[in-house]
Amino acid sequence: MLEKMEKFDTMKVINEFEELTKNAEQVQRDTLRRILEENAEAEYLQELGINARTDVETFKQCVPLVTHKDLEHYMQRIMDGDNSPILTGKPLPNISLSSGTTQGKPKFLPFNDELFENTMQIYQTSFAYRNREFPIGNGKGLLFIYSSKHFKTKGGLSAGTATTNVFRHPQFRTSMKTIQSQSCSPDEVIFGSDFHQSLYCHLLCGLLHLEEVQFVSSTFAHSLVQAFQTFELVWEDLCSDIRDGVLNESITDPNIRAAMARILKPNPQLADTIHGICSGLSKWYGLIPKLFPNAKYVYGIMTGSMEPYLKQLRRYAGWLPLVCADYGASEGWIAANVNPRSPPESATFAVLPNIGYFEFIPLRDDIIGGFEPKPVGLTEVKIGEEYEIIVTTFAGLYRYRLGDRVKIMGFHNKTPELKFVCRQNLMLSINIDKNTEKDLQIAVEEASKLLVSEKIEVIDFTSHIDKSKDPAHYVIFLELSGDADENVLKECCNALDRAFVDPGYMGSRKIRTIGPLELRVLRKGTFHKILLHYLSMGAAVSQFKTPRFVGINNKALLQIICSNVVKSYFSTAFE
Ligand code: AMP
Repeated sequence: MLEKMEKFDTMKVINEFEELTKNAEQVQRDTLRRILEENAEAEYLQELGINARTDVETFKQCVPLVTHKDLEHYMQRIMDGDNSPILTGKPLPNISLSSGTTQGKPKFLPFNDELFENTMQIYQTSFAYRNREFPIGNGKGLLFIYSSKHFKTKGGLSAGTATTNVFRHPQFRTSMKTIQSQSCSPDEVIFGSDFHQSLYCHLLCGLLHLEEVQFVSSTFAHSLVQAFQTFELVWEDLCSDIRDGVLNESITDPNIRAAMARILKPNPQLADTIHGICSGLSKWYGLIPKLFPNAKYVYGIMTGSMEPYLKQLRRYAGWLPLVCADYGASEGWIAANVNPRSPPESATFAVLPNIGYFEFIPLRDDIIGGFEPKPVGLTEVKIGEEYEIIVTTFAGLYRYRLGDRVKIMGFHNKTPELKFVCRQNLMLSINIDKNTEKDLQIAVEEASKLLVSEKIEVIDFTSHIDKSKDPAHYVIFLELSGDADENVLKECCNALDRAFVDPGYMGSRKIRTIGPLELRVLRKGTFHKILLHYLSMGAAVSQFKTPRFVGINNKALLQIICSNVVKSYFSTAFE
């Protein structure tokens, strides 16, 4: 269907989505039926005795809720080359690696053509709503996208991150042509062997097409901030490359050099323009719209663990709107942003009822733990409630706990519009205290307010629990944009300690069963070293998320962080 569609028909896509969501309940039943029919041969389903039945009730009775751990041995067999129907009816062509930055190590997951189709459908849907608000015509996008290393598993399946599997899919270019303007950068830059070289050339390609750029984007906001932080350091090199028409010699990848040679010609006038713009900016405010005068918006995932980068991103984006990208995971896509004018802080995502079968475990505080969770269906969720999301996909995951917490904010027709809250796994817990990634984010925001008067920003942060002394205590690591006054940092440390308002934490702090919180300030550039560490393990920049908790078992990461501490403070907040 995608290949035939030469010209993108915004209203047709919107109308299709409206129809799908009006019938969300029926569409969910049909979707489950299709998934179960297509995979009826799968050993996994046969062992559960589902017996080719495809109704919701039988499905829920026969199929247990699982986590990734429960599927590891099936994935191993698939990767080792067993191509009997294990999780899916047809053998899987690809394996996806999740970023591994949320759980410490990458997960191996199934990827197939159906997931690729789902990706195109979700891109198409949100693009239609976005394009209705901010039409971008046929211009170009400056897309900071990077491919991860691809490798073959023991059984010969190709494996890479989910985004790389999408970019490398034979139909990617054709499908994207109809739904998005072209990337400024040639494929050689996207698929380059070294991320620094690709980033430099993405920037250069953007500048060479400066008038044509209609939007600036990356998968996650983190990569956008990183791209423009790099720009601050290399803009003079970029200008001189453009002036002389010669690529900086630090770019050594022969494929990139050959591709860039085709588009880079001496252009002193353009170099002067860029030089003039950069010299005239204060603190780089409005850099993106100044450089790219026809850009309509900045686009990427900006919710959840990306929210802490918004302040830095807004400085670069100036007066351009920040538009949030969709919600999904390597396991599969979930929901699209159909309200592109919502700022990231209030962005919601409407679930696509035909790309998977979705269930939701209620997470109300008054539901006491220990009971078997009772998930509800897509159309049974309640506004204002929080849930853990469970997915059943066309790629062989059945009732799979994704580990994300979402909140229902409303409905788009009959399908819920949800807000991403955080990863569901607890991070900071010593005894009866329970603090999530979101609580940590709020605490760091509180502390960062004290740094405003010093004109200092938090570049990034993470946490750890130090059990080397009794009682154990929370450690918060901050990388800052400048040197803050000692007294301000002491106050930041106290503010962090006070900001964890969960009763378990406050109670334990008062009776000293949890020790004073420790703030450790990191050397500038530490989080960049962390990124490089993950890349060396096969992660892709496109999917990188800073780990917000460093466990004792993650020795390599703990070593990088601890060896870059320049100052440390203990809280006196509860004395
Ligand atoms: P990965 O499979 O490693 O790329 O990571 C997927 C995870 O990223 C999801 O389970 C979410 O926790 C997070 N994520 C994906 N999309 C969004 C979004 N739009 N907003 C917030 N978090 C997201």
